[in-house]
Amino acid sequence: MKSLRTIALKEAQNRISPEVKSPSAKISDFYGSNVFDKKKMRDFLSKDVYEKLISSINQGELINSDDANQIATAMKAWAMSAGATHYTHWFQPLTGTTAEKHDSFFEPSGDGAIEKFAGSALVQQEPDASSFPNGGIRNTFEARGYTAWDPSSPAFIMESKAGKTLCIPTVFVSYTGEALDYKAPLLKALAALDKAAVDVCQYFDKSITKVNASLGIEQEYFLVDESLFNARPDLLLTGRALFGHMSAKGQQLEDHYFGSIPERVFSYMVDFENEALKLGIPLKTRHNEVAPSQFECAPIYEEINLAIDHNQLLMDLMEKVARRHHFRVLLHEKPYAGINGSGKHNNWSLITDTGKNLLAPGKTPKNNLMFLAFFVNTIKAVSEHADLLRASIASVSNDHRLGANEAPPAIISIFLGSQLNDVLDEIEHSRISKKIKEDNALWLGIPKIPQILLDNTDRNRTSPFAFTGNKFELRAVGSSANSSAPMTILNAIMAEQLVKFKTEVDKLIKKGDKKDIALLTVIKKYIKESKGIRFEGNGYSQEWEDEAATRGLSNIKTTPKALDAYLTEKSAELFASTGIYSAREIHARHEIMLENFYKKLQIEARVMGEVANTAIIPAAIAYQNSLIANVQGLKAIGVDSKVSIDIVKKLSEHLEIVKTNIDAMLEERKVTNKIEDTREKAIAYDEKVKSYFDIIRYHADKLEQIVDDSVWPLPKFRELLFMK
Ligand code: ADP
Ligand code: MG
Repeated sequence: MKSLRTIALKEAQNRISPEVKSPSAKISDFYGSNVFDKKKMRDFLSKDVYEKLISSINQGELINSDDANQIATAMKAWAMSAGATHYTHWFQPLTGTTAEKHDSFFEPSGDGAIEKFAGSALVQQEPDASSFPNGGIRNTFEARGYTAWDPSSPAFIMESKAGKTLCIPTVFVSYTGEALDYKAPLLKALAALDKAAVDVCQYFDKSITKVNASLGIEQEYFLVDESLFNARPDLLLTGRALFGHMSAKGQQLEDHYFGSIPERVFSYMVDFENEALKLGIPLKTRHNEVAPSQFECAPIYEEINLAIDHNQLLMDLMEKVARRHHFRVLLHEKPYAGINGSGKHNNWSLITDTGKNLLAPGKTPKNNLMFLAFFVNTIKAVSEHADLLRASIASVSNDHRLGANEAPPAIISIFLGSQLNDVLDEIEHSRISKKIKEDNALWLGIPKIPQILLDNTDRNRTSPFAFTGNKFELRAVGSSANSSAPMTILNAIMAEQLVKFKTEVDKLIKKGDKKDIALLTVIKKYIKESKGIRFEGNGYSQEWEDEAATRGLSNIKTTPKALDAYLTEKSAELFASTGIYSAREIHARHEIMLENFYKKLQIEARVMGEVANTAIIPAAIAYQNSLIANVQGLKAIGVDSKVSIDIVKKLSEHLEIVKTNIDAMLEERKVTNKIEDTREKAIAYDEKVKSYFDIIRYHADKLEQIVDDSVWPLPKFRELLFMK
């Protein structure tokens, strides 16, 4: 019988890309065609309701039920005109993926049937929520949760071969009001940030009434042929290769990064980009990444809530479209040991309703003071809550990537670039002159900040949080993550920080300081206090780990311990003051994150056992048997050769170790599974069960290098990575 690997290799070699037809040569012709955007709202709604909806989108004003009915009717009319038959509330439960439950517009009526979509169905639904993670929030007797419309993210139509569905972005909350998803806390954090930032803006510009956090998400991913993927139970079930010796050629030549995009991949990219563009996802960039078979795409930045919805939708699309091309997309942070993993850089800035980017240095000293206020408050916020930010990017899969010599370490630090570092140093050591007049060019002695930082800022790829000219880039986020987790924290800590800033500045003003002097005094104080988090050097180096330790920065390498930061008193104060999590919510979430962590390790451990026992060990034994026959044959004809005997012995050694450790790991799991406390259990999975992974893999990979290639059951790294 042919092995699955043999069949898979053959199939992978004979792939023909499906034809990809773009809807039009001009993207603007079809961009957003599947979105109920402002133009369509205007076409399908009365002027009055249209304006109410827009103000709800911009100012978060509530929509009454009459208007909701009109909006639902308009959405339905638009969706049906585009061929949709069903609608769904689309939400982001804590499973990490997106969720949908489709209902038909169709309803039987007295004399036949009608298509109906009421305002009440637009605004709220009650999906059977008992199967979503809730961390104990919902007892079974109140196992209800409901989804509620988020008008700030437009409805869209999801197309599939079998039909079209109108999707309505929603939050997902329990019957008692606790958030059960990623979106609800994010929206709260954004509202808190908006308020705090507008208040600080008032020192500089009274015309500013709204501050939006903006986000541009770079998405890295791997592609692998579908048949090869299916022949690897580990990839299939865990998203990463639990076994596999590194290919003789990996990324050492760096020829992939600079190479042209392979034709088959290009065709896939164009296909999912078209789908994304139709959904109003402003994809702009595509390129190869460092590792073989690794790629990246990035949209133009948008308001955060929308950017994250779009990223979630994009990941979903990428998976769906990959199947049309007989690819699988791997969003896992580290699918292959030995080469680079994947991240999701979160480019973040704050933009006012007057169009000003608060993190872009301005032309005049006054604008620069405004810039410095937001810039330094960001640094201060991150320095105060570095552990929490670290926790927000923690996951079982990101643990493989952080600090793995291609990704930022688990130490949170901030890179500013030499120019801004100098500026901050100068302010720190300057004496604030209290005499100089407001309109004086040498005003207060604020150092000159070069306007064009964008091209000048040095790039430091090793920093988890880097300033890149007019935005900060949080690079530690994992490729499979929902960016809401870190973005909720980043915006919340910024909100809290800005509130504190304003309190301090106002106090000085009250004491008689001039406004600008007061601002600069507090800025200067923050620069001093947050100095320890700034680091310009190589974040991948051992020296940095050592130095960070002397600075007292945390370096928590594993998720279960990193997550503790969610439960500290400092975090509790933050959550209460910004209103993003109640104590009950955060405890539930903490529990869910720990459960998620150990369950994934549990699955990996099981898959390891299964693959070793049923594929790797039998293949090695079969090969060993053929060698034994060879030894006996040689003996029979009187040839004295030790080659086969040596290999037989080597195989036995490795087989022995693999088998003993698989068995020991099973026993360890039995003990660990009995632990009641979730945190302890997660730590035990991490420190005890997972500790077997390396040794099992090491010896299994040795077997891979010895066993006859033609009988090895699992597609090898060279095949997974280099088949185009
Ligand atoms: P890189 O050099 O890191 O690839 P790019 O300039 O290509 O950076 O931008 C990466 C992402 O950052 C893109 O999604 C881009 O839209 C986004 N971005 C650019 N400016 C801003 C900004 N002011 N705020 C938020 N994101 C931004
Ligand atoms: Mg980048």
